[in-house]
Amino acid sequence: QPGLLGSYTFDNFVEGKSNQLALAAARQVAENPGSAYNPLFLYGGVGLGKTHLMHAVGNALRADKPDAKVVYLHSERFVADMVKALQLNAINEFKRFYRSVDALLIDDIQFFAKKDRSQEEFFHTFNALLEGGQQMILTCDRYPKELDGLEERLKSRFGWGLTVAVEPPELETRVAILMNKANQAGIELPPEAAFFIAQRIRSNVRELEGALKRVIASAHFTGKPVDIELIKESLKDLLALQDKQVSLDNIQRTVAEYYKIKVADLMSRRRSRSVARPRQVAMTLAKELTNHSLPEIGDSFGGRDHTTVLHACRKIKELRETSSDIREDYKNLLRSLTT
Ligand code: ADP
Ligand code: MG
Repeated sequence: QPGLLGSYTFDNFVEGKSNQLALAAARQVAENPGSAYNPLFLYGGVGLGKTHLMHAVGNALRADKPDAKVVYLHSERFVADMVKALQLNAINEFKRFYRSVDALLIDDIQFFAKKDRSQEEFFHTFNALLEGGQQMILTCDRYPKELDGLEERLKSRFGWGLTVAVEPPELETRVAILMNKANQAGIELPPEAAFFIAQRIRSNVRELEGALKRVIASAHFTGKPVDIELIKESLKDLLALQDKQVSLDNIQRTVAEYYKIKVADLMSRRRSRSVARPRQVAMTLAKELTNHSLPEIGDSFGGRDHTTVLHACRKIKELRETSSDIREDYKNLLRSLTT
């Protein structure tokens, strides 16, 4: 069926703390489509497995019922198809098609933002499918309520089913993913080598995969065994780059872990002290440790203004003088990010 990738299955999805809830919800949906959670809404940063999970549900549905009409598409494709249908005077066919599916999987719905006509059309499709008990799975790069340019009524409907975050994988999960992918590729990856890569590549699963592919390729071409020496050699530029610069990603993860909050909280609009203070600390660290501009930093914290970053830096500077807690936190974070 168009759009559905057979290679993204539950079998080759590695479970970890960071994706446990999302995986459990996806499994539920695969078992009870249309009734467990509808819609299932997965959100989180890039390369964390949202697309994989949504395909896994689709593939499971089709394995159960081979003639099930499971449609996967990216939200940009939905918009483009709709525009085309309007131009061709075929909007009724468009509607009929989308309303006839057993399951509709729409990826990266952040691209619906500010597309009013598409939102309108999607809203109607959405309602029709819900009423018909047809399953919907949606993904987004952030918490739906925080998506600017999306109608309130849509945001509120997205919450009618279940909304789950996919978090960046922690070290153990990164190791498990690497071992799993190496195994699938038929490569012997010693645990300490997996550990070495996982400790250094921390941003997301896609990057991990990319690094592993390079290591495997160089093992293949040189005939050398996959060990730490080979890894250092084949990922030289990546590792050097990383040593030189602390990434925004890295800062956000480290700060979130330190304060025991979610990375998504740092991007969120929440203003409670328990979230706002860590966010300000993270912004200040970003200013101090990276070459990113204030607007870029603001952007990476859920699309905030550069003045917010500036304010955060001032606030934290002041607090480091007046509060021993913040002083201590800042020192610890600085140390763990730079050593
Ligand atoms: P997202 O849609 O969140 O940006 P993807 O689903 O495209 O991320 O995942 C990026 C890559 O990482 C894909 O190749 C996917 O198969 C892989 N991946 C992500 N999470 C896992 C996991 N838990 N186990 C195995 N592979 C994963
Ligand atoms: Mg995706």
